[in-house]
Amino acid sequence: MVSTLLVRASESERLARFATNNRVARLISRPFIAGSTVAEGIAAARDLVAAGRTVSLDLVGEHVTSETEADRATDGYEATIAAMAEAELRSGVSIKPSQLGTELDVDRARARLTRLAEEAGAADLHVTLDMEDSSTTETTVKLVEALHGDGHTHVGCALQTALHRTPDDVERLNELGASVRLCKGAYAESARIAHQHRGAVDDAFQRCATALLERGTYPRFATHDHQIIGHVRREARRLGRTTDGYEFQMLYGVRTDVQQRLVEIGEHLCIYVPFGEAWYAYFMRRLAERPTNVLFFLRALTG
Ligand SMILES: Cc1cc2nc3c(=O)[nH]c(=O)nc-3n(C[C@H](O)[C@H](O)[C@H](O)COP(=O)(O)OP(=O)(O)OC[C@H]3O[C@@H](n4cnc5c(N)ncnc54)[C@H](O)[C@@H]3O)c2cc1C
Repeated sequence: MVSTLLVRASESERLARFATNNRVARLISRPFIAGSTVAEGIAAARDLVAAGRTVSLDLVGEHVTSETEADRATDGYEATIAAMAEAELRSGVSIKPSQLGTELDVDRARARLTRLAEEAGAADLHVTLDMEDSSTTETTVKLVEALHGDGHTHVGCALQTALHRTPDDVERLNELGASVRLCKGAYAESARIAHQHRGAVDDAFQRCATALLERGTYPRFATHDHQIIGHVRREARRLGRTTDGYEFQMLYGVRTDVQQRLVEIGEHLCIYVPFGEAWYAYFMRRLAERPTNVLFFLRALTG
């Protein structure tokens, strides 16, 4: 219930404006957001790489409402990719399709993504399309198919095990040879579209993880759930996948103890590093995953 309210609040423009202009709110978001500028994102990435992780940089933003905004986001990603190349960070970037304007004009968004895929490819960076709410799933999977058709095989996307359709999407992307980031899903969805109970989402994660380890291209398991992490590691061993054939992914600032442990036992770990001005929606989704933080945040906002 609280989680659903928070996910809804993440979509409020009025609250976004209020929080973004609130100094205390910015401060509180800091453990989850690496900073506002490309330089700050790169600095955080360098520290993580020095500590044995790889990174996927996310210039936060979504649901742009004009082509100008979509162009600005694309320019921001270009600058990010150039800075990663200069810093010799051979990891990846995470991009929200709606940030490139898929809700305005899919063809123009695809052209922007192609431009970024070319530059990322030249810099030896993987591109993951984040998965947004279920109204965007088909468009996102089709974008990956289109980019692969053009030879950009370093482009993949996230899939959410909350959705009933995901086992089919896993097979679709396995056949294509696209790298999938598997996650539980951070959006509130109806029962028609998605599992409503955590147990069902977790079971689906385990089944999809096995399918990816059996037939997928370098699967990326995005979770902080130690039971699922254990399942993935056992299945990888059973299926003969070495640790070079898949990775775990976690969010910047979340479960850093588990992050450290995974690196110590020799697993590949990629940290999703969000940075930029438009941090509000991202941050609210993180609160929704951990409602105990909410009172602290609200008290700080109003106090
Ligand atoms: C790298 C990465 C990329 C992602 N990309 C997407 C995407 O493209 N689309 C999408 O819908 N979702 C995405 N997510 C979010 C994901 O769908 C889940 O909402 C989120 O990861 C929580 O699920 P969990 O697997 O960690 O399991 P949970 O059962 O939710 O959490 C397991 C444990 O991790 C800890 N934990 C989890 N989240 C938090 C938090 N925010 N703050 C503090 N502790 C926490 C808690 O201790 C919790 O008990 C991504 C997650 C990761 C890690």
